[in-house]
Amino acid sequence: MGDSKAFLAVPRQEAGYRPVHERITDFGEVEQTLNTNDRRRQASRCMDCGVPFCHWACPLGNKQPEWQDAVYKGKWKEAYEILASTCDFPEFTGRVCPALCEKSCVLKLSCDEPVTIRENEAAIVEVAFKEGYIQPSVPVYNGQRVAVVGAGPAGLVVANQLNQRGYQVVIFDKAEAPGGLLRFGIPNFKLNKNIIDRRMELLEKEGIVFQMNTPIDLKRLPKGFDAYCLCTGAEVPRDLVIPGRDLKGVYFALELLSQQNRVLAGETFEKEALVHAKGKKVVVIGGGDTGSDCIGTSIRQGAASVLQIEIMPKPPIDHNEATPWPSYPQVLKTSSSHEEGCTRRWSLASQQFIGKEGRLTGVEVEDQLTGRKEVLEADMVFLAMGYTQAALPDLPENVFVAGDAATGASLVVRAMAGGREAAKAIQAYLQR
Ligand SMILES: Cc1cc2nc3c(=O)[nH]c(=O)nc-3n(C[C@H](O)[C@H](O)[C@H](O)COP(=O)(O)OP(=O)(O)OC[C@H]3O[C@@H](n4cnc5c(N)ncnc54)[C@H](O)[C@@H]3O)c2cc1C
Ligand code: SF4
Repeated sequence: MGDSKAFLAVPRQEAGYRPVHERITDFGEVEQTLNTNDRRRQASRCMDCGVPFCHWACPLGNKQPEWQDAVYKGKWKEAYEILASTCDFPEFTGRVCPALCEKSCVLKLSCDEPVTIRENEAAIVEVAFKEGYIQPSVPVYNGQRVAVVGAGPAGLVVANQLNQRGYQVVIFDKAEAPGGLLRFGIPNFKLNKNIIDRRMELLEKEGIVFQMNTPIDLKRLPKGFDAYCLCTGAEVPRDLVIPGRDLKGVYFALELLSQQNRVLAGETFEKEALVHAKGKKVVVIGGGDTGSDCIGTSIRQGAASVLQIEIMPKPPIDHNEATPWPSYPQVLKTSSSHEEGCTRRWSLASQQFIGKEGRLTGVEVEDQLTGRKEVLEADMVFLAMGYTQAALPDLPENVFVAGDAATGASLVVRAMAGGREAAKAIQAYLQR
C-alpha cells in the first residue's frame, strides 16, 4: 500500500475538461491530464482495502490497488505490467469507461471522493507508450488459425489474446478501418482516433492480419480456419415508429456520429448526404450516453439550440436508494457535452413528428406526469434510444460469440472482458 494516511490529507483531484468556450470549437479530446506529481498523489489515496470493491466492480477484474501502489512509488513500468495483465487496451477504457470501479471505491462511500482510478489507468498506459515499455511481441505460431469477424473492442481483444498464445488470427470487418464503435460511434472529443491507430499498428506488427472492407455472411464463414469468433456488435438501432417518421430531418444517432467521425478522418460526402446541425434546432430523443454524444457533436457543428428529451422520469441527483453502494448508482449523469449548452427534459413521450413540405418542423410530446401535450420546435431529431441484438444463425461448435453480439449493447469494458472469456474458451476448444 502507498501512503496509509494519504486519503485523509489529499483530496480527489480530477484533471478536468478544457474550458467550454475553447473545446466546442474543435473535436479534440476534452479531458486534460495531471502532471506526474499530482498523478502520484492521486494514486497515493488508494487505501488498499481488505476487500477491494473496485476490483469486484471492474468487468476485467483490474487490480487497481496494486497499480495505484506502483504509481505512488513511481514504478510506472511495474504499474503498466500489472494493468496489462488484465486489460488489453487501457488507453480505451482509461478514456471512455464509465469507471464502474470508482462508484464502488470505499472512498466513494465514506466521503464521495473515490480514487481517480480511470484517469490513473489512462496515465499509466500513456507513460508506458511514451517510455517505450510497450513494444511489439511476435509469438511463435502453433499452426492453428482463428477467424474473428468484427474489429470492435471485443474482436480486437479476442485477436490479441489468441495471437499472443500462438494462434494465427485474421480479423474480418466490413468497415474501412478497425475499431468498431470506438472509431465510428464514440466521438473524437472522447477518444481521438490516433489512439486507436497507435494500437492497430502494434497489433499488425505482432502478426494479426486485418482484412477490412470485407462483410462476412455469418451463414457462410470463410474457409480454412480451426475456430471462429463472431464479434459483430449490436447494430440495429431502436426506431421510433410514430407518424411523421419519414420526414426529412429525422435521423438515427449513428447517422450523425459515424459521419462526423468519418469527416474528421478525411472522408467527403455529397451535400445532400450530409447530416449537419449547423444553424438547426436539434432535439435528441433518448437520455443516455449516445444522446449525450449527439449533443456534443451538434454543438460543435454549430446547432442553434439543442434539447435532449427522455421518456423516463428525472433520476435522483446524488443518491438513489434503489442502487446503494457498491452497486452502480442510477443517478443523474452530467457529461462534458451536457455542460456545453443544452437543455434537458424528462418524462416526455414522443407522439408524432410534425413537418411542412416533407421537412421536420417539430415533435409533439406528451408529459407522462400531467398528460399535457406540446410541440417542441425541431429542424433535426436524433434517435438515441438504444440498440437491439441481431439474431445469429445456428452456430457449429467451433464458432464462438463475444461482445455486444453476445450480450446486447453494453460497454467497451464489458465487450473487452467478453473478448478475454471467448479467447479462453476458443483455446480450450482447440486444445481438446
Ligand atoms: C454512440 C455510442 C457511444 C458509446 N460510448 C461509449 C462510452 O463512452 N463508453 C463505453 O464503455 N461504451 C460506449 N458505447 C458502447 C460501446 O461502444 C460498445 O459496447 C462496444 O463498442 C461493443 O464492442 P463490440 O466489439 O462488441 O462491437 P462493435 O464496437 O459494435 O464492433 C462490431 C464490429 O463488427 C463489424 N461487423 C458487424 N457485422 C459484420 C459482418 N457481417 N461482417 C464483417 N464485419 C461486421 C462492424 O463493422 C464493427 O466494426 C457507445 C456506443 C455508441 C453507439
Ligand atoms: S476498466 Fe473501467 S471499471 Fe475497470 S478499472 Fe478501468 S475504469 Fe475502472
